[in-house]
Amino acid sequence: MAEYEVRVAPHPVCDFCSSAEPRYLEDCETFEVVGLNDAGGMAYIGKSDNDWAACEVCHQLVQGKKWRQLERRAVDAIQRKYPTMPRNRVQHGVQLIHGAFRTHKRVEDLNP
Ligand SMILES: [Zn+2]
Repeated sequence: MAEYEVRVAPHPVCDFCSSAEPRYLEDCETFEVVGLNDAGGMAYIGKSDNDWAACEVCHQLVQGKKWRQLERRAVDAIQRKYPTMPRNRVQHGVQLIHGAFRTHKRVEDLNP
């Protein structure tokens, strides 16, 4: 039942932490994320189209492969926006989506 939209903002934001000033694009294939719902069935979580916008901080975390910090930053950002959403549920969604991002991320940036 839980659905997380990967992109909801009308103006460009960081796809990891939703900050308003994305400066980089992380090269990534299009993918869809499916997880388990509360009843143990499959639930559609979200779709990601192509590259992910990233702010300076998230870009550095991606470059440094600091996935746990990136995850915490994303979870914190979602919780600021939706304070009543249970943290474990937010974390689960972020783990699924970031896991898929890591799988579908194209290997190396062309402009380091
Ligand atoms: Zn960010």
